[in-house]
Amino acid sequence: MDLYEYQARDLFEAHGVPVLRGIVATTPEEARAAAEKLATSIVVVKAQVKTGGRGKAGGVKLARSPQEAEDRAREILGMDIKGHTVHRVMVTEGADITEEYYFSLLLDRTHRAYLAMASVEGGVEIETLAEERPEALHRVSVDPRVGFTRAKADEVVHAAGFAPEIADEVSRVLVKLGEVYAGEDATLVEVNPLVRTGDGRIIALDGKVTLDDNARFRHPGHADFVDNMSTDPLEREAADKHLNYVKLDGSVGIIGNGAGLVMSTLDVVAQAGADLPGSPRPANFLDIGGGASAQVMANGLGIILSDPQVRSVFVNVFGGITACNEVANGIVHALTMLGDLATKPIVVRLDGNAVTVGREILAEANHPLVTVVDTMDEAARKAAELAAAAEEA
Ligand code: GDP
Ligand code: MN
Repeated sequence: MDLYEYQARDLFEAHGVPVLRGIVATTPEEARAAAEKLATSIVVVKAQVKTGGRGKAGGVKLARSPQEAEDRAREILGMDIKGHTVHRVMVTEGADITEEYYFSLLLDRTHRAYLAMASVEGGVEIETLAEERPEALHRVSVDPRVGFTRAKADEVVHAAGFAPEIADEVSRVLVKLGEVYAGEDATLVEVNPLVRTGDGRIIALDGKVTLDDNARFRHPGHADFVDNMSTDPLEREAADKHLNYVKLDGSVGIIGNGAGLVMSTLDVVAQAGADLPGSPRPANFLDIGGGASAQVMANGLGIILSDPQVRSVFVNVFGGITACNEVANGIVHALTMLGDLATKPIVVRLDGNAVTVGREILAEANHPLVTVVDTMDEAARKAAELAAAAEEA
């Protein structure tokens, strides 16, 4: 999960990284009140979107009074920055910047290590710097068993060539950023720019943090970072039920077990629908995983059936650890639980472990909405045809 700048700022502050005071606002009036509260001669109004280059896009603006902060917020709110609509701004104290640096600490999967990167030429987009002046961006590998220690921070500061009079302070701040990285189970902590102010302080002016979702269970507090404003309501509901669901924009609902199988199901359905009227396409990705219970099947079917764009559903299961008889029972049980909520045709393809028993269970239940089809290709075609027919009707 990527964090917004204001969320990164909060984490930084909690770990003792020097940051500027900042207040989030969702309306121009709130931005004005925030500027009044900060009561500094200059404030900065910053678009909160999960993309870089906000400055260049006009999403970071200085204001010299609460009135100006309100005006700038009015300009920035609703702005589109690289496809992201601005719903919030952060109003921060203005910093008297004398130099801008770059620092990041990230997971380096290829080398099974962490990678620290630093430059005394920060502020600009780092991709540009890496391309045009690669020698200005210094890379230091970090052994994850040792972590980002003070000695490592000193090594980075030395490699990047920070001026001697600030080296100690920069190193101290980098160690704190390393504490954010390790303590929060982040896979990326990036500060651009890390600034030196007129009065000699080192401050993280802009922060980008990516948290490792696999470590979410260790951080109950991270749930608060989930952005309900930009998450699809069905995706939110699916996440609440721990389902691996992604909303797409087609009309054929998809349920499968195993990410690989679901991915190929999406392809086969898209292909089957290509020649049909309205070219029906997959409505979602949903992997119920191995060992899915009837309840999980019901949760999945419930979410897919409540998507108004869905016209038909394709349940594609390859019985492995979870045998087909359990899956079949799951489907029957799910339809019973859903009752009148189940209103759309469901095509089921079962194969693998205990397939014969599984098909018998479905045949016996003889649910009016369920059609059992033997092969994946035929089932995909059937589901696409049903969606096309429903669309025409
Ligand atoms: P980004 O463009 O999305 O990376 O947004 P940043 O938060 O990094 O801001 C972009 C640039 O705006 C920075 O590199 C600074 O040059 C400038 N900026 C941001 N905050 C301040 C501030 O408080 N004072 C001054 N003078 N400039 C700022
Ligand atoms: Mn930046």
